[in-house]
Amino acid sequence: MKWSWSTLNLKLRHTFTIAHRSSDWRTNVLIQLDHQGITSWGEAAPNPRYGEDEASTREALGPLTAVIHADSIEGRWWEPLSSALVGSFAAKAAVDIALYDHWGKVQQQPLWRLLDAPYDGHSGLPLCMTIGIDDVATVIKKVKQAESFPCLKVKLGGSNDREMIEAIRSVSQLPIRIDANEGWSSRERAIREIEWLAPRNVEFIEQPMPATLVDDCEWLKERSPLPLIADEALKTESDLSHIAACYHGVNVKLMKCGGISPARQLIQSARDLNLKVMLGCMVESSVGIAAAAHLAPFADYLDLDGNLLIENDPFQGQNVRRGHLYLSQSNGLGVSPHRQVNHASDE
Ligand code: MG
Repeated sequence: MKWSWSTLNLKLRHTFTIAHRSSDWRTNVLIQLDHQGITSWGEAAPNPRYGEDEASTREALGPLTAVIHADSIEGRWWEPLSSALVGSFAAKAAVDIALYDHWGKVQQQPLWRLLDAPYDGHSGLPLCMTIGIDDVATVIKKVKQAESFPCLKVKLGGSNDREMIEAIRSVSQLPIRIDANEGWSSRERAIREIEWLAPRNVEFIEQPMPATLVDDCEWLKERSPLPLIADEALKTESDLSHIAACYHGVNVKLMKCGGISPARQLIQSARDLNLKVMLGCMVESSVGIAAAAHLAPFADYLDLDGNLLIENDPFQGQNVRRGHLYLSQSNGLGVSPHRQVNHASDE
């Protein structure tokens, strides 16, 4: 069993701005597992919002991969992996994804089938395209490029929220999902914006206020005319206890909770609390996105366009047509590299 990893520098198609930050590049870590003559892949997309970066991820990968033994293959790896280190969720996700890829290849099954996902094998699952915070001309250009998608996800929480929405509505009537990324700093601002958005064909609001404002989030849920979805407020299952009082649903991301294994459990626990389930992502290559895609049939809403926001995806295999995702019939994750991956300077 040989593990290796390397830096994955992903170039964004457009400068990506959300409340509080802007970027042109993302640095992820690609992990490769060679075992039993099979090559498998995983990806970590560490996010500074959760105190993780490339350096901390690389540091975690050694101890995490060391606890995986040949007899852990076939789904019995999550317990040693989760208890090997505190935190380091993106690194855990990378290892977990690679092990699932391997297991699917050994079993000669696509992951969605191995996971018993309720998918008929051929239907398109509706995606939405993300529009970052931008000037009106750029927003209009991006909305026109996204017209084949069934809905738009719009980042707000900047200084021109209403201007952006009015610009979108001047060229498109597609349903809009809002993500404020904690950008509305008070409950008064949040309710004002939500009431203005409600009659404009908006489906829900993701993370309107800072996750730490628990009492204000509860106040907002009682008054909001639109459903509220927790993203930054929910990392792992242990956060679920206070979520139902403040939100109507949760955004589950493999990079926040540590991979496919804990995401399956988190989805089930959210369902038990009657919460809606959204499946989201970071900016990731097709490796990370494919891993989440195999869980897509378990979710109410999909936000899995992270690989479509980059121009140098080193992997292929994600099948998106007219804004709909078609799950792979290939074994494991169903992705393969465009070219030879070189880990020469790594691990
Ligand atoms: Mg979000």
